[in-house]
Amino acid sequence: MKNILIIGGGTGGCIVANTLAKKLDDDEAQITVISASEQHHYQPGWLYVPFGREDARSLTRPVRSLLKKQINLLIGKVEQLDNENQQVILDNGDTVTYDYLVIATGSVPCPQDIPGLSEGGNHFYTEKDSFALYQILQEFRGGKVVIGVGGLPYKCPVAPLEFTFLFEEFIKEKGLRDKTEITYTFPLNAVFNIPSVAEVAEPILQERNINIETFFNLEEVKADEKKALSLEGTELDYDLLIMIPPHRGVPFLQGHDIADAKGWVKTNKQTLHAGDHKNIWALGDTTDIPISKAGSTAHFEGPVIAKQIVADIRGQELGEDCVYEGHVMCFLETGYSKASIIDFDYSSPPVLKAPNALMHYQKMAFNKAYWYLIPTATI
Ligand SMILES: Cc1cc2nc3c(=O)[nH]c(=O)nc-3n(C[C@H](O)[C@H](O)[C@H](O)COP(=O)(O)OP(=O)(O)OC[C@H]3O[C@@H](n4cnc5c(N)ncnc54)[C@H](O)[C@@H]3O)c2cc1C
Repeated sequence: MKNILIIGGGTGGCIVANTLAKKLDDDEAQITVISASEQHHYQPGWLYVPFGREDARSLTRPVRSLLKKQINLLIGKVEQLDNENQQVILDNGDTVTYDYLVIATGSVPCPQDIPGLSEGGNHFYTEKDSFALYQILQEFRGGKVVIGVGGLPYKCPVAPLEFTFLFEEFIKEKGLRDKTEITYTFPLNAVFNIPSVAEVAEPILQERNINIETFFNLEEVKADEKKALSLEGTELDYDLLIMIPPHRGVPFLQGHDIADAKGWVKTNKQTLHAGDHKNIWALGDTTDIPISKAGSTAHFEGPVIAKQIVADIRGQELGEDCVYEGHVMCFLETGYSKASIIDFDYSSPPVLKAPNALMHYQKMAFNKAYWYLIPTATI
């Protein structure tokens, strides 16, 4: 009887746990999920909370309700990974051992990494912050608004663009467009790091009279003076600053041997093994694989790990489907009830269709169907 331990009860952790529970017999393995939170958040819904289009409370369900009943769930925070002894240590001092370990601990927005950003900036990347931004937008009466990406990497790379489009629509509906100047910033020399996405997004920003500041690497926010300063020497005045903070992996991984200083697990981009460890895998946001940190990434990675573990337990050969090919799929909301879809893998860059109403309504439907299609999936 093997012990499979999965750290994280988010998108990736639930998919791996449920897939394993479906494939393995009860006498083959004990599957345990450790989650720091009792709740699983549908984070893509936070994009809509500031505009009053989603209620943050409806984007949450208990992790327990998403896991098959034979999966053991422990609520607690892993504080230490002792891979030599194949165990993790929790914040209450308990030790949990494993034969196989899957790390699915996600990523953490870190506004504290940029001086002044916590004081001067807002964002929608946590439940609390998306609701705080809702309250700010309720009071908003016009002014200079700077929306952008405060540092790389960050999860759901298109969300800042989507937010910019939805914000423009929102203030137009409120009759404040004439009183509002919007500036979108991005750290690279384009409005997005994937050229085909930038080619679709840039003309839309221009049509909607949204200023573009590329090569804007946020260095400091002077909250008292309401100024955002970039490494390149650009200074932007703002009345409202919405900046996605740079992200890190979770604290117990920062500087651990299997991760880098920022906590991104050194992950084989095909097998998803953590470094040379044959019994440790990572998926979702926590990996250092240079692709989008997205729920869809975790969704396509999960089965690859589950199949490897099952094959190892049963002494079977690995099939061709035990390799992750870099599949990512995300919607791109462009406002005014239109969206496009971005679908790619390591060998095929995305080709985007013109934004249309069908894609927008597919995304709306997916937002509701998430609970039945993704964390509970057993592929
Ligand atoms: C505003 C917004 C919009 C987004 N839109 C999209 C989208 O349209 N499409 C898309 O594909 N993705 C989107 N995403 C990204 C998506 O939500 C994440 O990429 C996805 O949730 C990553 O899954 P994960 O399993 O890696 O991490 P998470 O789902 O974040 O789960 C991490 C889990 O680890 C647990 N954990 C953390 N630390 C510890 C610890 N020390 N001990 C124990 N447990 C721990 C947490 O409690 C949690 O259960 C969006 C994200 C945001 C914020």
